[in-house]
Amino acid sequence: MEKREELYAGKAKSVFTTDNPDLMIMEFRDDTSAFDGKKMEQLDRKGMVNNKFNAFIMTALSNAGIPTHFVELLSDNESVVKRLDMMPVECVVRNISAGSLCRRIGVEEGLELNPPTFELFLKNDALGDPMVNESLVETFGWAEPAQLAVAKELTFNVNDVLKKLFDDAGMLLVDYKLEFGVFNGEVLLGDEFSPDGCRLWDKETREKMDKDRFRQGLGGVIEAYEEVGRRLGMTF
Ligand code: C5P
Repeated sequence: MEKREELYAGKAKSVFTTDNPDLMIMEFRDDTSAFDGKKMEQLDRKGMVNNKFNAFIMTALSNAGIPTHFVELLSDNESVVKRLDMMPVECVVRNISAGSLCRRIGVEEGLELNPPTFELFLKNDALGDPMVNESLVETFGWAEPAQLAVAKELTFNVNDVLKKLFDDAGMLLVDYKLEFGVFNGEVLLGDEFSPDGCRLWDKETREKMDKDRFRQGLGGVIEAYEEVGRRLGMTF
């Protein structure tokens, strides 16, 4: 497969076109950002770890019947994915209170959320990714209502699969963010699933094993990501 021009460079990944108009190459870089890009650092090995982690999770989700854009690993820090028409919204499910939910409604971290919550955020860095809802998505045409409904259902299906996967490996899936897009009329899970976009705590000690280690300056960021992978049976 021929890698052609860079189509898009995000804060941690770049996306390239290929000689196949239906496929793209997603490159995971070592760049790590938080707080809308205000905190930026290069973390050695992160691109490779997240690329392999994402491949593992996307494969597990696909095996559980959840359609994803992931096609195959191409190299240590590149994967082949289907080219989607992305919905400009982030879907967030929370099983335990943390992060912006605690700040927004003034609850303490660590409360079990039953049933899990579902939130939508508009992807807009300049506005700091504001929270939106299904009505706004419909009115502003960010996604077809039926396609958003599928994305929401798939987001909860992902919870069923991954909560168990992490629990069996001694971790709590606190929350996570997913992005969806459309490929030939079908809603597919896009973007990535890695410890950059979810919160994972050790089941016994509740030690943070995700990007909060970077956001909060706790250190050992990549070591924690690799430990998550090792517990799932991955080798890097
Ligand atoms: O910041 P907040 O608590 O709303 O984040 C919820 C979840 O979504 C966290 O797991 C966080 O890592 C993820 N997230 C993300 N990208 C964003 C915002 C949140 O991956 N732009």
